[in-house]
Amino acid sequence: AEPVLTISGLNVDYGTDERAVHALRDIDLTLHRGEVLGLAGESGSGKSTLAYAVTRLLAPPGVITGGEVHYHRPGGDRLDILSLSPEQLRAFRWQELSLVFQGAMNSLNPVHTVHSQLTDVLKAHRPDLKKAQRRDRAKELLSLVGISADRLAAYPHQLSGGMRQRVMIAMALALEPEIVIMDEPTTALDVVMQRQILRRLVQLREQLNFSVVFITHDISLLIEFSDRIAIMYGGRIVEEAGAAEIYRDPRHPYSDGLLHSFPALHGPRRELTGIPGSPPHLSAMPAGCAFHPRCGKAFEPCDVRVPLLATPAQSPAEDRRTVACHLHA
Ligand code: SF4
Ligand code: MG
Repeated sequence: AEPVLTISGLNVDYGTDERAVHALRDIDLTLHRGEVLGLAGESGSGKSTLAYAVTRLLAPPGVITGGEVHYHRPGGDRLDILSLSPEQLRAFRWQELSLVFQGAMNSLNPVHTVHSQLTDVLKAHRPDLKKAQRRDRAKELLSLVGISADRLAAYPHQLSGGMRQRVMIAMALALEPEIVIMDEPTTALDVVMQRQILRRLVQLREQLNFSVVFITHDISLLIEFSDRIAIMYGGRIVEEAGAAEIYRDPRHPYSDGLLHSFPALHGPRRELTGIPGSPPHLSAMPAGCAFHPRCGKAFEPCDVRVPLLATPAQSPAEDRRTVACHLHA
């Protein structure tokens, strides 16, 4: 499939002086048209920072210190995201890319109805639509996410958490963007509701053919719902492969640990062993492989040399997998 978003060599720091810390290092990642790409990793691994950086929503002290991000329009022209003007960015967000943030369901305005919040997005970006057309579109958007049209008149507090989250997804889809990024969109909801929402999203993706970047610390959700998974640790991608490949045969010891931290949904039961210790602080990133203090397989070069993301030596060609670990160099 053709690329819709390409990230190369992306570096992000927090701070600009001598106390600046590296938040993202050497991120290379491609999102293909129509695919669901999962980003996994414990909190603090850089997943949200990556989402904010590629959408230019990174707030100070976060600064992009290197790399490139390109958006590829369906026609073929390329947009250099890191050099867009504020006006270009406003048009780009919502229309070509939209985001559903962590806790987004709490960002609905409590004093406005669902109808007025949905139609506000349309008013701002589609001045060509008449009032009745906006109303029809709002109904259509709600039904896309499985909410009946009579809830248009509801205020946010009259809806369940799951419904509010689905309203946010409807808003994100309002202008038919090519890319939807969801950052832990469902952590505030129970597991059954999370799964329902994700299933709906994947169905919509098939119907509307957008691409999804789905960010969560729960890798079992990604195994079920994404096509490919990139696993992050200490601000770097440490493994990237098809969801089935990661599940069947995780190569990076951290990927393996993550898979043993959540109950398996299908297939043989895994023992839940988790990962000893806790993720590093950005200000105290271990030298070499940042995972080495927690890695049961660490050996001689691990605390000195940073392992680079590369195709592992023993890997079938069709795997298209990359791993950053000295075991696989
Ligand atoms: Fe473990 Fe070394 Fe691989 Fe890092 S590079 S994951 S410390 S074996
Ligand atoms: Mg986060």
